[in-house]
Amino acid sequence: MSDTLAPTGQVDTTGRDRASTPAPDRPAHDDAITTAKTQLAGAVARLGYDEGLHEMLATPRREINVSIPLRRDDGSTALFHGYRVQHNVSRGPGKGGLRYHPSVDVDEVRALAMWMTWKCAVVELPYGGAKGGVSIDPRQFSQAELERVTRRYTSEIMPMIGPARDIMAPDVGTDARTMAWVMDTYSVNQGYTIPGVVTGKPLEVGGSLGRATATSRGVVHSTRAALREEGLTLADVSVAVQGFGKVGSHAAAMYAEAGARVESVSDQYGGLYREGGIDMVALFEHVARTGSVVGFPEADPLGDQSLLELEVDVVVPAAVEGVLTHDNAPLVRARWVVEGANGPTSARADTILAERGIVVVPDILANAGGVIVSYFEWVQAQQAYWWTEAEIEQRLEERMLHAYDAVADVARREKISMRDAALMLSVRRVAEAHKIRGLYP
Ligand code: NAD
Repeated sequence: MSDTLAPTGQVDTTGRDRASTPAPDRPAHDDAITTAKTQLAGAVARLGYDEGLHEMLATPRREINVSIPLRRDDGSTALFHGYRVQHNVSRGPGKGGLRYHPSVDVDEVRALAMWMTWKCAVVELPYGGAKGGVSIDPRQFSQAELERVTRRYTSEIMPMIGPARDIMAPDVGTDARTMAWVMDTYSVNQGYTIPGVVTGKPLEVGGSLGRATATSRGVVHSTRAALREEGLTLADVSVAVQGFGKVGSHAAAMYAEAGARVESVSDQYGGLYREGGIDMVALFEHVARTGSVVGFPEADPLGDQSLLELEVDVVVPAAVEGVLTHDNAPLVRARWVVEGANGPTSARADTILAERGIVVVPDILANAGGVIVSYFEWVQAQQAYWWTEAEIEQRLEERMLHAYDAVADVARREKISMRDAALMLSVRRVAEAHKIRGLYP
């Protein structure tokens, strides 16, 4: 699947107002920060760390709140709130996405930043964890307005970011073009071009081959590794993918290419089901034309039924956090949950899924392909030397499988879930880096 074929997911190409359409699978939440802190507390208890270290690991190192006034195209003004949180930088510069979504708040950004710290550690990247967000619905604004919001946000957080301080990437509601605006604003203000301040950039300004599909590719590699433990391949299973944006759409296409039956997909407007599998090429054409999976004639609408509760082998939440809760975890019928999204499963849901023998390949491992190729992009930018797509894909696969095996080993040895194992590994790596550096002064 080529990078350029992707439906952008967050851009409604029809211009129709979908704001009144009810969202399926709307989270009923344990909120993200509660989930993140509960996960950390579990890892700290397992590792036997003291309360002082626990508090340090639970608390962001730095954060900034900014207000962003926007001059709208019609001459009026609007104000948005933006955040950048560096959760931990003991292992290297902060790394993490920038999210544009109306429900963004500082606690959500703190949770996402913490998960980035563990993710970078579990796949052994020399980064800490960070995240940014602006509480805006990008679908309601023109490209020119989004450019002004992005440039103002970047200039407000300028002292915190940089290729050796904190490196941004796309997340929900942002894309390669957003990263080009961040990179340009930062570079113009520093007086020279600095591609390493962001990753997930367009190829024309120093982006990496393979970055646009890297998260999805990693999700598929980790699914393959999980199935292999049971002697299965992708050709043996049916899959349901929630979210048809940057992560979900490519993952669905790659599953189908590998022979899996992708029987259900959804986006925020609705879902589809077709026993035996949905034709991905035709679906991509439909989404490119209409902006949504809804109305695709070659599959049935999902209606009120939740994609997460379908009778398929693998469920891939790849939309938003908090969708698997204690309410619906007992209803999941899949054997594997592979987390494309960050934080889709609450801590209570995790316990229920584990008790039911459902294998959860956790977000900090399953969706790490994006940050791995972001790291490759940053390395290439620092060296001004570009790798081939084949090199990138091979190195991505090696790193994903190496990390998967390390986590699976700990899970087997300690008789704990893949999530608890991934957290044990990563929290220990961060804590050891912190301890060996010592406290200043
Ligand atoms: P995106 O904005 O490109 O796509 C999000 C998709 O989810 C859209 O199709 C949207 O319609 C859909 N959606 C939103 N709410 C939904 C709901 N309630 N039910 C079903 N679908 C819904 O975002 P993305 O970049 O694909 O990110 C998706 C998730 O993956 C997020 O949790 C993000 O943090 C995580 N993630 C992204 C990357 C990356 O490289 N983009 C890397 C790691 C993790």
